[in-house]
Amino acid sequence: MRGGLPLFRFRGIRVFLHWSFLLLPAYIAFTGFSEGHTWSEILKEIGLILVVFGCVVLHEFGHALTAQRFGVNTRDITLLPIGGVASLERMPEDPKQEFWITVAGPLVNLIIAGVAFAILAIAGIAMVTTDLLGDISTGAGLLTFLVTVNIGLFLFNLIPAFPMDGGRILRSLLGMWLPREKATRIATVIGRILAVGFVFYGLYSGAPFLAIIGVFIFMAAGSEARAVQQKANVQALRVGQRVRTDLVKMTPTATVQDAWNAMTMIDHHVVMVSDQGLFRGLVMKEDLRMALGEGGGTSTIVALTRHVPSVAVEETAMSVYQRMVHENLWAMMATSNGAIVGVVLRVDLEKALGTLVPQ
Ligand SMILES: [Zn+2]
Repeated sequence: MRGGLPLFRFRGIRVFLHWSFLLLPAYIAFTGFSEGHTWSEILKEIGLILVVFGCVVLHEFGHALTAQRFGVNTRDITLLPIGGVASLERMPEDPKQEFWITVAGPLVNLIIAGVAFAILAIAGIAMVTTDLLGDISTGAGLLTFLVTVNIGLFLFNLIPAFPMDGGRILRSLLGMWLPREKATRIATVIGRILAVGFVFYGLYSGAPFLAIIGVFIFMAAGSEARAVQQKANVQALRVGQRVRTDLVKMTPTATVQDAWNAMTMIDHHVVMVSDQGLFRGLVMKEDLRMALGEGGGTSTIVALTRHVPSVAVEETAMSVYQRMVHENLWAMMATSNGAIVGVVLRVDLEKALGTLVPQ
């Protein structure tokens, strides 16, 4: 849902009009004509929509410029018929930062409404809403419209339908007390209930855009909740959960052929070499294969024994996997309270993390 017609660029953030945005004036023109409106009335209605989306752009810049202050860039702002989307590079995991970035959007609408209201008040123009609303050809009409629209945008965005602003504010407030994934889960459930409400209300009250917004919120809440959950799962996975304890153990005097036979029989990747109860190191399957290929089946495995570093079972699988990639290790000894309890293989960690983070 990004890209489209480039409109302008401010502080390095480009604003795009998504092609689907054209559905909006088309929809207005269609319903306008079918209700017998004149051309000038329809143009005025489209003008109102453009004013609304001008306010939406300012709202999105509220998010984007606040994010910039926290060192988070925004790739672009895209205008869709159902609203604007500021594509932040990432949402900070610090709930306070998420709170301020999110609150800044609705706050912009509150400020616009306040300024427009102040001008009306100073000029002494009564807010005769029913007469002026919808007529932006006069200054007073435009200001009245700005007050109404921005209060509307402010209130609508504060509905806690995650991942809408109100839902993000809720998640960030919960996140100050709860773990992020739990805060997200609560916000998602509330968001989905409200989204279903939007859909039903939209369908029954003849507001199709609200129904579409509801569908989007429902899907977006799910995908964001999944991403947060996956990350939490990855962070929770410990080395101890992927330790192989059923190892083939052999003495350094065993032959390459013996080790190969023992290993292939039970499909293992390493042989643990120990001498009189003392751990000496590991022999990798690949090394055995190569030695056999070179006709070294009768030599002992002592020359192929590699010393491998050890790692505590409490460490996170992700950090250990990264270390193994970095140091080009294929296996590590897993220890618990300093005692060896088994072997952790890089392929096992890769597989476990791969299922948690689908590429
Ligand atoms: Zn917003």
